[in-house]
Amino acid sequence: MNVLVLNCGSSTIKFQVIATDLEKISANADERLARGAIERIGGEAVITRETGASAKPQKIAAQLRDARAAVDFILRWLCAPETGILQIASLADLHAVGHRVVHGGERFTHSVLIDDEVLHGIEDCIDLAPLHNPANIRGIRTARELLGAGVPQVAVFDTAFHQTLPDYAYLYALPYQFYRRHRIRRYGFHGTSHRYVAYRYRQMLGIAREATKVITLHLGNGCSAAAICEGNSVDTSMGMTPLEGLVMGTRSGDLDPAIIDFLSEKEGLSAREVESMLNKQSGLIGISGLTNDMRELMAEAEENQDRRARLAIDIFCYRARKYIGGYLSAMGGADAVIFTGGIGENAAEVRAKICRGLEWCGLSLDDEINREMIGRREGRISTEDSRLAAYVIPTDEELLIARDTVRCVEGVKQRY
Ligand code: ADP
Repeated sequence: MNVLVLNCGSSTIKFQVIATDLEKISANADERLARGAIERIGGEAVITRETGASAKPQKIAAQLRDARAAVDFILRWLCAPETGILQIASLADLHAVGHRVVHGGERFTHSVLIDDEVLHGIEDCIDLAPLHNPANIRGIRTARELLGAGVPQVAVFDTAFHQTLPDYAYLYALPYQFYRRHRIRRYGFHGTSHRYVAYRYRQMLGIAREATKVITLHLGNGCSAAAICEGNSVDTSMGMTPLEGLVMGTRSGDLDPAIIDFLSEKEGLSAREVESMLNKQSGLIGISGLTNDMRELMAEAEENQDRRARLAIDIFCYRARKYIGGYLSAMGGADAVIFTGGIGENAAEVRAKICRGLEWCGLSLDDEINREMIGRREGRISTEDSRLAAYVIPTDEELLIARDTVRCVEGVKQRY
């Protein structure tokens, strides 16, 4: 089955085509036929794309006025003979679509085949993710329009994996009626990534899900941690929105909520403006005053001894270490800490800094192996005798979306 995976944002669309089916899933033989991204939809869009066979990604520009034009552009390219994807000669060779959907609220605990009722359910969650869900819905409607209602579409939710959190972990200590009235609670995000690396860890080591207890750290532009016991998420750092938890590229993560009113008074900002500042101008960029890009920050700290770049990295690592400690307590220990995401997969120095000071609970990194584990390599980075292991596992959300799509289409029960 050729599955088109779509991740539709407000002005960007990421896509992949993955050939997979139940047999390929069990043999781990899924095939990536194409991938790409379209940025700045609405004007002069920038498109990067490559096929499984191409030597390097191609970058072009095109005028794409909306999501429909962008998806249409992707479909035309996939089917064009000169693109050279042998398995795709026409639209009929795209057999299903898997969509990343950000918020599934409490209703969606697994990936689902999309029908009108599901679409309404995703619409009902717009309140919880006003920036993301509308773009996801547009992607679903557009794909249905362009490919026809006969092509099955599946929604894979960022929040679904965390629906196993116990009530004492997902409830905030607010008056209970606000949970009843507005469903204010911890939902958590990056679920597909946390779920994938926890699964891949079990697969690499050949151990049963019931025998695992891991802490996963997704460190990219957005960052979150999850405590995963016997394959189920039991706690996670992002909350009702992705703002809570770890320090991120532009988001503050945890902070005293009283700061919002204080700042609003002192700076003459509305609550909405303060929230926007917490989302867009805080975190690494806020502390450093330079950039939200960890690679650039590391270079500034190293080459120019920039004090605030160093401070931003220190705060980032310290917060992550505190979460590891918290989740060790929450689960009564763990077997491994798993790093993923752009920073988690590539920034050896950040990994080392996060783990420094965790020797007391049995985690010791092998510095040399850690330094070498970059560029989508996967493996253990702790010493052999480390009681708490550490791993780097590159995330692959698109693969999981494609596989969930196959399982939903085939009617196979999923196990998260
Ligand atoms: P997103 O969350 O948008 O998918 P990524 O997972 O790609 O983002 O992560 C982006 C982050 O990863 C950026 O902060 C970037 O600087 C960082 N990163 C990527 N490569 C490296 C590297 N070699 N060293 C340090 N940081 C890196």
